Amino acid sequence: MLSIKFYGVRGSISVSGDEYREFGGNTTCIQIMVSDTSRIGILDAGTGIRQLGKDIMALDTDQSEIFIAFSHFHWDHIQGLPFFAPAYVKEMKINILALGHNRKIENLKDIFGMQMQREFFPITMDEMGATFNFLSINKHSEVFMPPDGIPVKMTAAKHNHPGGAYSYRYERDGHCVVISTDIEHGEEVDPNIVALAKNADLLVHDAQYTTEELKTKKGWGHSSYDQAIKVAQKANVKKLIITHHDPEHNDDFLRKMEKWCQQRFSNCEFAREGMIVDV
Ligand SMILES: [Zn+2]
Ligand SMILES: [Zn+2]
Repeated sequence: MLSIKFYGVRGSISVSGDEYREFGGNTTCIQIMVSDTSRIGILDAGTGIRQLGKDIMALDTDQSEIFIAFSHFHWDHIQGLPFFAPAYVKEMKINILALGHNRKIENLKDIFGMQMQREFFPITMDEMGATFNFLSINKHSEVFMPPDGIPVKMTAAKHNHPGGAYSYRYERDGHCVVISTDIEHGEEVDPNIVALAKNADLLVHDAQYTTEELKTKKGWGHSSYDQAIKVAQKANVKKLIITHHDPEHNDDFLRKMEKWCQQRFSNCEFAREGMIVDV
C-alpha cells in the first residue's frame, strides 16, 4: 500500500483567512508513506512541510531518515524547509532528492543553502543540525528499499514548466501513484505524462486555472481543470486528485469547480490540507 497525505495544496504563495479554511492555505507538500514502516517520503517542501515536521516529531517511532524529493525548486516548493523541525535534530539524516534523466543541476546544496544565507534567514543550513545528503540522480528511475524489504520504484519524467520540472511515478507491490505538479501542457496534453500516469491507481495533477484563466496565464507553468481531466482519461487512471490551487480561488470557487470536474471524471476530488488517500 501507499498512503498519501496532503500537507500543502496551494500554488504559488500561501494564503490564510476564513475563505480558505476548507482547502487550506499552505503551499505544496505531500507525504508518501509506505505503510507498516516508519520510512517517510516527502514530495516538495512548500510551507505545508512545517506541520509535517511537527507530526514527524510527535511520532512514536524511531524515525531517523527522511527522503524529500523535489519536482522543481520554485519558492512555493522549497520555502518551508527552514521551518522543518526534524532538520534541527542532530541524529536525523535528510536525503534531498532530485531524480530525472538529463536533469542538469549544478549544485543541489546551493539551491537550498541560498535561501538560508544570512541575508534571507537567521540560521544557515549547516547550522540546522541534521545531516543532509544531496542526491542528484541522473536516471529515469531508481529503486529505494524501505526497512520492510518491499521496494519502491520511482520514475521521473520531465515536463514543461519555466525552469523545468519533473513528474514522479511511485510504484510498490502493485500499487501506483503519479504526482505531476507545476505542469503547463501545450495545445495537446503531454503524451510523456500520459504514459507516465498510465493505469495509475491515483494521479495527483496540477490544475491552477480554468480554461478561460489559462488563456491569460500562458507561460506561468500550470494546467487547467480540463487538461488535468484529459490526462486522467487518456492515462486511464482510477482516481484523480487536483492540486496547486490558485491563491485567488477561495473555498466556494474550488467547491464549485470540484463539482464541475466530477461531472467529467467521476472519481475526482480536489486536494484539501490534511486529506489522506490510500492506494
Ligand atoms: Zn508551484
Ligand atoms: Zn513552479
